[in-house]
Amino acid sequence: MLNPIGITAREAANAYNVSPRTIRRWAQTGRLDAAKDASGHWVITLDTPSLDGFKPAQVERARELIAQGGIVPVRGRRIFLAVSNDGDRTYLTAPQACNCKAGIKGRYPCFHRIAAVIMSAATAPVRRAA
Ligand SMILES: [Zn+2]
Repeated sequence: MLNPIGITAREAANAYNVSPRTIRRWAQTGRLDAAKDASGHWVITLDTPSLDGFKPAQVERARELIAQGGIVPVRGRRIFLAVSNDGDRTYLTAPQACNCKAGIKGRYPCFHRIAAVIMSAATAPVRRAA
């Protein structure tokens, strides 16, 4: 089940691994599902799997990680490298698993995995310009 979320151009740029300028061009030409908000910033609609099971605060932390470029794809855009809060460590993370401390305990998904879910959703091909 897909769940559309609105992300910023900066988040989208990191998720699609292109520049914010490219995201704005894709938004303007209709290659991305996007609209401007009241303050004139692009909001990109991304269809992710449902994030309903995740705590909103965790989703926010995941989006901050993406906005800061703290998670990057390493293999086929299904496995990602996420930087720890203090910047000292990196974790291998995917939508299903993560090797951070919380991820290994595994009772609840860590926010790295949520970030991986959002990043994976951005691998869907963008629409061709009309
Ligand atoms: Zn983790």
